[in-house]
Amino acid sequence: MSRKKTLVVFVSLFLIFTMAFEAFAFNTDKDKQKLDEVTKEKEEVTKQKKQNEKQQGDITQKIHKLEENIRNLEGEIAQINKDINETKGRIETTKGELIKAEENLSTKNETFNSRLEVMYKNGDVGYIEVLLGSTDFEDLLTRIDMVKRLVKHDTDLLKYLKEQRDLIENKKITLENQKSQLLTLMNNTKKKQEDLRVSRGAMQRAKKELEKNHVALEKQEDELADLAERIKEVIIRNQSDENYVGGQMTWPAPGVRTITSPFGYRIHPILRRKKLHTGIDIGIGYGENIVAAQSGKVMYADWQGGYGKVVMIDHGGGIVTLYAHNSKLLVKEGQRVERGQVISKCGSTGMSTGAHLHFEVRENGQYVNPEKYVKRP
Ligand SMILES: [Zn+2]
Repeated sequence: MSRKKTLVVFVSLFLIFTMAFEAFAFNTDKDKQKLDEVTKEKEEVTKQKKQNEKQQGDITQKIHKLEENIRNLEGEIAQINKDINETKGRIETTKGELIKAEENLSTKNETFNSRLEVMYKNGDVGYIEVLLGSTDFEDLLTRIDMVKRLVKHDTDLLKYLKEQRDLIENKKITLENQKSQLLTLMNNTKKKQEDLRVSRGAMQRAKKELEKNHVALEKQEDELADLAERIKEVIIRNQSDENYVGGQMTWPAPGVRTITSPFGYRIHPILRRKKLHTGIDIGIGYGENIVAAQSGKVMYADWQGGYGKVVMIDHGGGIVTLYAHNSKLLVKEGQRVERGQVISKCGSTGMSTGAHLHFEVRENGQYVNPEKYVKRP
C-alpha cells in the first residue's frame, strides 16, 4: 500500500468515525429538542384543557340561570292562566246580571207603558172620569197629585234601572278588556319562555361541543405525556451503551402470584375511560418487598405523576423495567442493582386505588406485555 493510499484509508476511516459520532451526538440533541417541543406542546394542550374547563363551568352556570328563569316564567304563566279563568268566570256572572237587569228594565217599561196607555188612550175622558169621580175639590186635588206621583215614581224607577244596566254593561266591557290584556300578557310570557328555551338549547349544544373537545384534549395530553416519556428513555438509553444481559426476568413481587389487572386496553379504574394499561398490576400487600426483575442501573427513583413513588431500571439494550406506587424507595438514581435485590416497599402512591405493584417493561421506549419477560411463580 502506497503512502497515498494509506492516507486516503486513514482519512476515510477518520471521517466515517467522526460522522458516526456526530450523527449520534446530533440524534441526542435532536431528541432533546424534540422533548422540549413535546413538553411545550403538552403544556399548551393542558392550558387549552383548563380553559375548556372554565368555559364549561361558565356555560353550566348560564344554563342553570336560564333554567331558573324558565321555571319562574312557568309560575307566571300559571298565575296568568288563573287570572284569565277568574276573569272569564266574572264575565259569565256579569252576563247573567246584565240579562236580569235587561229583563227588569223591560218588565218595568211594559208596566209603565201600559199604565201610560190606560191614561192617555182613554185621553181626557179617562182623566176627566177620574177627576169627575172625585167627591169634592179636595178629593180632586188628591187624585191629581196621586196620578202625578205615580208617573214620577215610574220614571225614576226606569231611570234607576237604566243606570244599573249601564253600570253592569261597563263592568262587562272592563272585564273583557282585562281578559284580552291577560291573553296578550300570556302570549308575551310564553314567547319569552320559548326564547329562553331556544337559548338554553344553544348553550347545551355548545356545552356538548366543549365536552367533546375536552375528551380530545385529554387524549392528546395523555399521548404527549407518553411520547415525552419515551423520548426521555431514548435519550437516557443513548447515553448508556450496555447490552441487555438477556433472558427471563425474575418475578418482582416475591411470594405473590396474583395479577389483579393484566397488560392491555381496559376502562381506567379512576379516569373511567378506555386507556392502555401499560403494565401488570400485582396484588402485593402494603409495605412488602419489591425486587429488581433483572440486574441493571437505576435510571430514575423519585415521584413521577400518576406513578407516585417509582423506580425505573435500565437493563441495557433498550430494556427498562418500572415499579410504580411504592410507599418507600430503597435505591438511588445511578445505582447498580442486582437481579432479585430489594429496591422498594409496596404502597399506593400516585393514581392508585389501593396497595399494589404496577410493573412495566419497555423496549426502546415502547410498552410491552411484561408477561413476555416474567412468569408468575
Ligand atoms: Zn397498573
